Amino acid sequence: MSSYKYVDVVVPLPLPLLFTYEVASEWGDKIQRGCRVLVQFGNQKIYSAIVFGQHNNPPSGYTAKKIISVLDEHAVVTSSQLKLWEWISGYYMCSLGDVMQSALPSALKLSSETKIKLHPEPEPEQIHLTDDEFLIAEALHTVKSLSLKEIAKILDRKHVFPVVKSLLQKNVVLSYEDVEPDYKPSLTTYVIRTAQAVNEKFLQEQFSSLEKKAPKQLDLLMHFMMMEPAYAEKKVPQKELLKKAGTTAQVLQQLIKKNIVCISIEKEKASGNYLADPMKELNSDQEKAVLEIKKSFEEKTVTLLHGVTSSGKTEIYIRLIDECLQNGKQALYLVPEIALTTQIISRLEKHFGDRLLVYHSRFTENERAAVWTKMLESIYLSEKAFVVIGARSSVFLPYHQLGLVIVDEEHENSYKQFDPSPRYHARDTAIVLAAHHGAKTLLGSATPSIESYYNAKGGKFGLVELFKRHAGIEPPQIEIVNIKELTLRKEMKSHFSPALLTGIKDELAKNKQIILFQNRRGFAPIIECNQCAWIPHCVNCDVALTYYKKADILRCHYCGYSLNNPSKCKSCGNTDLRQRGFGTEKIEDELEIFFPEAKVARLDLDSTRGKYAYKEIISSFEKRETQILVGTQMVTKGLDFDNVSLVGILNADSLINFPDFRAYERSFQMLMQVSGRAGRKNTRGKVIIQSYNPQHMVLNFVLQNNYYSFINHELFERQKFCYPPYYRMTEITVRGKDESHVEHAAKLLTREMKTHFSKHVLGPVVPVVGRVKNYFLRTILLKADKQTSSALFRKKMEKAFEAYRKDPLSKNIYVAVDVDPV
Ligand code: ADP
Ligand code: ZN
Ligand code: ZN
Repeated sequence: MSSYKYVDVVVPLPLPLLFTYEVASEWGDKIQRGCRVLVQFGNQKIYSAIVFGQHNNPPSGYTAKKIISVLDEHAVVTSSQLKLWEWISGYYMCSLGDVMQSALPSALKLSSETKIKLHPEPEPEQIHLTDDEFLIAEALHTVKSLSLKEIAKILDRKHVFPVVKSLLQKNVVLSYEDVEPDYKPSLTTYVIRTAQAVNEKFLQEQFSSLEKKAPKQLDLLMHFMMMEPAYAEKKVPQKELLKKAGTTAQVLQQLIKKNIVCISIEKEKASGNYLADPMKELNSDQEKAVLEIKKSFEEKTVTLLHGVTSSGKTEIYIRLIDECLQNGKQALYLVPEIALTTQIISRLEKHFGDRLLVYHSRFTENERAAVWTKMLESIYLSEKAFVVIGARSSVFLPYHQLGLVIVDEEHENSYKQFDPSPRYHARDTAIVLAAHHGAKTLLGSATPSIESYYNAKGGKFGLVELFKRHAGIEPPQIEIVNIKELTLRKEMKSHFSPALLTGIKDELAKNKQIILFQNRRGFAPIIECNQCAWIPHCVNCDVALTYYKKADILRCHYCGYSLNNPSKCKSCGNTDLRQRGFGTEKIEDELEIFFPEAKVARLDLDSTRGKYAYKEIISSFEKRETQILVGTQMVTKGLDFDNVSLVGILNADSLINFPDFRAYERSFQMLMQVSGRAGRKNTRGKVIIQSYNPQHMVLNFVLQNNYYSFINHELFERQKFCYPPYYRMTEITVRGKDESHVEHAAKLLTREMKTHFSKHVLGPVVPVVGRVKNYFLRTILLKADKQTSSALFRKKMEKAFEAYRKDPLSKNIYVAVDVDPV
């Protein structure tokens, strides 16, 4: 390896530049592109930075500092990852430091701010620790956490990163950002056979003695033996065993006393049974789709699979992934964060076992770093055919010989990262990632995004369609209920139409389950004085406060500010305050009145704050412990419950009338998706949509189950009003504490942009919520035609920003650029 005098590094900060450091000759030949090096930045801070380039030219304008040390022997970020970082930074107009912040798990981003703590579940076997490592581990037994500065004191030496890095790798410690207050693995009690009971003869004896004296125990034992083979390591969850056998823990105690079975409390295994079942045989439509996809891949790098819900897309993905792995290549299966449930994970686990890697934002940073490291190490091993299932950020992992990328539910707008920068779209980034590797991308959806459909129609993407549901499941029967009329006739019972109430009652009677969808959380979005129309607003943001009944508070959905529910109007003193609108909490509340015998659960941002809350709500609905699930968007995403026969949408209008050019597309998709949750197996499902405006064109298209009419109609409108996919949109948000400065800056920036983009610049305008967390906002919209190359586009933007930054006022103003906003 030749050695260079200087390195250009990326520091994990939102700074637009690379920084040049000098390399002392002792490090020279140890440095590779993509390695972490420790650098001092500013006077105090130390960061691990990523080596981006190496050369012999001193920087102009400043004297290069020396790097402190080199942390890695091999690159931690591969050159193909760096290539993707560069693309993201270019296309989404952000710094490489921003990309690094999002891409690299923080356990790989040691800095002088890092703190460490003992690992709650250390490796069982004795790990060899060096003297220094031992000293730190000992210290952590007495004090709970140590900063790197404190460690430096203990070891009496300045640079302690290598020791910390090694402790992290040996799983002795965790880096601190990680240790969430509610960190606990979810534990389950398993019943397993004792060593003795493996012996046939022993079992026979027990059987005959139980047969005579203890029929209940015998019955339980039979159930246990029947269930055993279906579970990983033959460990049967106690709860499920007792339920299946219809017996109590006392009976189980007797079997334990007789030393036939014993109990083991362990970290929960992926749910469901674990029989390594062979791949499902595809039906003829699926087979045909697979052939068409492969054919399409011969010509196109990206193919769109438009397949209605329950057409068996997932089975197709599994087949394609399997073939990809057999060819010795890696695959990425991208799903929206919220759809990354145990349901889908265990489905894949069955096929791919330990070749499946899961990458999840709910994972701790150390778990994420472990996946990263495992993939890096695999590059040097012969076995590297992994499939990664993950959300958005899994596009950042170190792939090697990637062969296939699947983007499931590709229309989902949660693929777009909104904050912080980089504001990247994971679907589009995945396509670029695949292209860098010469891999193919399959986009799948029952309701493709308008962009992808447009690309398929124009021939840029291949298109494969699958319109038959597996095993001939019929599409749901959709009924639209006119609640305007019903309200006039006083036939509504609060927010429920008679049709919906009857529907719920009937399905409950049949032991079926019901999903209800309402697009707002909380109890009521607005509280208003009946006398003077005073509405309590957030003190930090320009929005009304949402009322929460159980907690009896008002809360802001933008900043979390809350206050006790006022007993009287702050403006006129009147005590008659009424609630306007309704959210999921109210629906939950009313269901308990209408259907006191039914168990109701709520799935929204408020009910899923804890690390495991989401999983628990889903799993008890899966196990049919709850009958009605009320929720926001969360209930529309990728869930597969086979006992749901009715889906109710309480108010479709709030979706459709949202002030955004994508509102129709989004509400169409959401209504179709949520409808798809009804009647997945055996029975035809029913969907009841309540609306004040039942004639609305979007509802009509939903009723006809007609994606193509909808999308063509929508494309026509988009073209007419110069929106994507015909125009490339960029939204710029200007933000600051002083409203007049914000206004001034926004106008100035708009003017500069107009000199480069002429008529395509709109604004500045005050957005719907014009102040958030005490920052005033203005937005500027840029609609550029697609003739402008993205390089030229960027150049023009940079010129506009350069001119804008000359104004001294721009110093205290934040500007966020969002390319392709969703
Ligand atoms: P989609 O992803 O298109 O919504 P899924 O792949 O989830 O559809 O399939 C819907 C249901 O049908 C699932 O329960 C799945 O296990 C089942 N299924 C799909 N294809 C087959 C097949 N070829 N054989 C047996 N079951 C299948
Ligand atoms: Zn009042
Ligand atoms: Zn607020």
